[in-house]
Amino acid sequence: MLGQMMHRQLTISSLAEHAANYHGTTEVVSVETDGSVLRTNWKTIEQNARKLANALDQLGIQSGARCATIAWNNARHLEIYFGVAGGGMVCHTINPRLFPEQLIYIINHAQDQVLFVDKTFLPIAVKLGEHLKSLKAVILMGPRDDEAAAMLDGLLFYDELLSDADANFKWPDIDENSPSSLCYTSGTTGNPKGVLYSHRSTVLHSLGGNQPDGLAISARDTVLPVVPMFHVNAWGVPYIAAGVGCKLVLPGPGMDGDSLVRLIDGENVSIALGVPTIWMGLLGALEASGSKAKSLKRTVVGGSALPPSMIPIFRDKYGVELIHAWGMTETSPLGTMNNLLQKHSTLSDAQQAELRRGQGRPPYGVELRLVDDSGAILPHDGTTQGDLQIRGHWIVDTYFESNKTACTDDGWFDTGDVATIDGDGYLIIRDRSKDIIKSGGEWISTVELENIAIAHPDIANAAAIAARHEKWDERPVLLAIRVEGTTPSEQEILEFYDGKIAKWQVPDRVIFVDELPLGGTGKILKNKLREQYGDVLLSAN
Ligand code: ADP
Repeated sequence: MLGQMMHRQLTISSLAEHAANYHGTTEVVSVETDGSVLRTNWKTIEQNARKLANALDQLGIQSGARCATIAWNNARHLEIYFGVAGGGMVCHTINPRLFPEQLIYIINHAQDQVLFVDKTFLPIAVKLGEHLKSLKAVILMGPRDDEAAAMLDGLLFYDELLSDADANFKWPDIDENSPSSLCYTSGTTGNPKGVLYSHRSTVLHSLGGNQPDGLAISARDTVLPVVPMFHVNAWGVPYIAAGVGCKLVLPGPGMDGDSLVRLIDGENVSIALGVPTIWMGLLGALEASGSKAKSLKRTVVGGSALPPSMIPIFRDKYGVELIHAWGMTETSPLGTMNNLLQKHSTLSDAQQAELRRGQGRPPYGVELRLVDDSGAILPHDGTTQGDLQIRGHWIVDTYFESNKTACTDDGWFDTGDVATIDGDGYLIIRDRSKDIIKSGGEWISTVELENIAIAHPDIANAAAIAARHEKWDERPVLLAIRVEGTTPSEQEILEFYDGKIAKWQVPDRVIFVDELPLGGTGKILKNKLREQYGDVLLSAN
């Protein structure tokens, strides 16, 4: 033999062990469901995770079994992430905001055997009760609670299970290719589908996504994942945090602007992550409280397009860099993150700002390409639009319980997004293929129309949709929410588009609404809007 390197399995328990061994006293701060604050550390998190693995073993739950959570971002949820996967089971995080039928569908489809719930969500478990066929145990994430016990027969209590468990339990050896967690797509564009992540894909995602040009989280950071732990594993932050041993702040149910300002200032948060609507809420709260969010250096924004007008506000007023990221459930989710290259250092502020608007570049570990309708590969020239395809170590191959690959014949996953990519690999998502407006054979990006509208000082939020049109097939219609206390007219908003885009791209109508329908992960449900407003341009209306 010429020689050989060690081959260690890339497991989730190894991340937790690293955190316990080398960052044991680093704090994990958790806002509990009752609003109290629990201060723990990585040593205790890992020990509790091992106890949980042991407790599940004692309950007769076998490796590979799916254990579901309906929970906020908190310390017990973190222990469940590591305890379930580390013990060889699969941690299935569920979005509590789904409709009951969707919850029933997902839990039965996943064949979940255990359901962990925060007290807030116990009524959901009670209500779904008899519809859940595979469940063997429901575990309340907290100490014994007589009120809760009276609500559900046989309810178990997390803290009791742990106090009876073996603190010296050793992590089992696990093949890195075995499944570790399961997440269903939010179903914005169809039935939810399960994406089954493996230990290996999760560890590689943590390493690949956290490079210096990616999330760049270090042991010196205090990280606040506002993105829920049921939304694509909080973008992998719990695993990354364990791998680097940073201080972690879990916000519990308080994801509103005021609660976030309190946490950021109180815990000296340096990096926060979440969807754009969260940061809109935070901006309002910062203005109202007068806080300067001094400790905050960066926020990572993704899940839907970041309105470019937010970037200079955060940078100039608060010294916070917004890092735009793109991904999806099927991509673990980190696909691209926006940081500049060395050659951009001499560009003007305006030119740099222009580059930062897009979704960024792929880290090592994923590759991107664009194809046309026939599957032919398109150039990466920054202007040619095509269907975005992706492949890599943490990209889905086959959905849960499906018997065929979700990929093209040559092994790429079609994202359903329409994009451009420039010569340096900078991705710009132009739209989702189902949302894009096809007006007389030309494409209009709904994202671009929304970004312009949101930059208007009197518009709080906006969504552009394709409305049916007798002559052009489809034309853009903008649904907009006015900033409270302002009364911009339709004409004024339409004129705001002058000079910013071609005349034929300007919406045909602006309709003011009080709210926009949001899906479980805070994204605007454009299919709902199309159902409601899709015919407003037809002559009969
Ligand atoms: P669902 O597909 O059910 O909405 P996901 O959370 O997986 O659930 O959503 C992934 C989609 O969200 C992407 O395909 C893309 O359309 C959109 N998306 C995510 N991040 C961004 C971003 N930074 N800019 C624009 N769109 C984004």
